[in-house]
Amino acid sequence: MLLFGGKPAGQLQEIERYKLNAMSAFAETQTCRRLVLLNYFGENRHQPCGNCDICLDPPKQYDGLIDAQKVLSCIYRTGQRFGIGYIADILRGANHQRIREFDHDKLPVYGLVKEQSHEHWVSVCRQQLIHMGLVNQNIAHFSALQLIEAARPILRGEVPLQLAVARVLSKKSRNQQNKNYQGRYDKKLFAKLRQLRKVIANEENIPPFVVFNDAT
Ligand SMILES: [Zn+2]
Repeated sequence: MLLFGGKPAGQLQEIERYKLNAMSAFAETQTCRRLVLLNYFGENRHQPCGNCDICLDPPKQYDGLIDAQKVLSCIYRTGQRFGIGYIADILRGANHQRIREFDHDKLPVYGLVKEQSHEHWVSVCRQQLIHMGLVNQNIAHFSALQLIEAARPILRGEVPLQLAVARVLSKKSRNQQNKNYQGRYDKKLFAKLRQLRKVIANEENIPPFVVFNDAT
């Protein structure tokens, strides 16, 4: 097996993937950024700082106790061995082989929340429950989600929990945004850039879209 700095290549890849996920989760966070950082470094804090951009311009909140309980219960019932995407798949009742193999389609949480998008549940897990210090992403074990002690009163419904409405662009608004750009660009400059792209692509012997695509 290939070794880099004492770690097997697969393990290194896993660490890099975790770092990338953590970075994008930080960028897209719906909770106080200071909390995100402190929880990332293992200090389990729950009090927002009141000073970061999220605290100063908070996203819309809703009573998220039931949503959080669904996620936490799904993590618990699947043995705290699976990652975010898989947990979201079970909750949304995805029909794939892995779920059937593990008999997770027989769980009471399977298909519990079909009406909400995959992105919604990823946001609840990655941008909120982890950042709030309720769930840990175990990097040493395939980024599996694991419950932290603070999740217990949430699961029992003993404390209220507010979650943020994710600021993700819906497909509809993304299409609208793309439409807004159509026909509104400098056509001469576009032609010049295309020509340049062709020259670079020929020199490097690669397809033009690898240099940059039309949207870029
Ligand atoms: Zn803050």
